[in-house]
Amino acid sequence: MALRAIRLLVSRGKTNLARINDITNPTSTEKRERLVILGTGVLKSELKYTIDFDKLVIGVGALSNTFNVPGVQEHSFFLKVGFNVPGVSGNIPSFSEVKKDCVILSNGETIPCGMVVWSGGIAPRQFVSDLDLKKNKQGQILTDKYLHVLGDDSKSVFAIGDCADIQDMPLPCTAQVAEREGRYLAKMLNHGKEFTEPFEFQSMGMLAYIGKYQALTDVKQIKMQGFTSWIVWRSAYLTRLGSWRLRMQVPIDWLKTLMYGRDISRFD
Ligand SMILES: Cc1cc2nc3c(=O)[nH]c(=O)nc-3n(C[C@H](O)[C@H](O)[C@H](O)COP(=O)(O)OP(=O)(O)OC[C@H]3O[C@@H](n4cnc5c(N)ncnc54)[C@H](O)[C@@H]3O)c2cc1C
Repeated sequence: MALRAIRLLVSRGKTNLARINDITNPTSTEKRERLVILGTGVLKSELKYTIDFDKLVIGVGALSNTFNVPGVQEHSFFLKVGFNVPGVSGNIPSFSEVKKDCVILSNGETIPCGMVVWSGGIAPRQFVSDLDLKKNKQGQILTDKYLHVLGDDSKSVFAIGDCADIQDMPLPCTAQVAEREGRYLAKMLNHGKEFTEPFEFQSMGMLAYIGKYQALTDVKQIKMQGFTSWIVWRSAYLTRLGSWRLRMQVPIDWLKTLMYGRDISRFD
């Protein structure tokens, strides 16, 4: 999300998007010591190459937090934001294991189930955990208000999106924040000089789909719910999508779902 904004907007120099395996000496002021070890992706993943860099933007996102509960990764569907499910209330003991057809609670009770939806917040990717950079309690890379990672005197390493946290400026891990950080960084990198304006964020509000052609709209000008709100939500999607490819693909996907139902196939 955040990197897409950068790739679309950075016009100066060459941008290199690749799967990063490791970064050595990320905060060294000596360019020759700062190296990124890149992998080639899925095919021939054993092939690796090393490059130095002028500017490095880390925007690898985050994972859903499974709290290391066995079976969650394999048998759950992940949801970003928790919500109140009708009929589920009270103090539920913590999960000790998730299986294909049941959930085992810490008190030993077994609850049979057809589907588990997991909403446990976010956790850092292993790659981010392994980086020798300052992090917050959640394991996100700490940055200053110019999105430079803390401790990097060369001012050439940035972290954005869900994998990063701006010190003393806590922001939610949402697409809105990630995309805005990407746009800010692209603008500053295009400018090419010292960063003079810090990153600022003002929420544009919230739109949420709640099922059955109903949505919630909570923006400065309007607060509403229901079908009209759903129309607003869908229109906003189309106008805010980052590329023309997505703007074409998303309505086609909606049409396919309307005609043939939701595609619930999942690749493991
Ligand atoms: C189910 C779900 C629903 C959500 N719903 C909403 C919503 O309604 N509204 C909202 O605002 N936000 C929502 N979010 C959150 C939103 O998707 C994230 O906040 C946003 O995508 C973060 O952007 P990002 O660029 O930091 O990370 P991502 O969008 O996750 O992008 C990170 C990219 O880095 C790549 N990557 C990972 N590791 C490496 C590596 N080692 N080397 C190179 N590349 C790597 C990944 O493949 C990925 O392409 C939702 C998230 C989830 C999971």
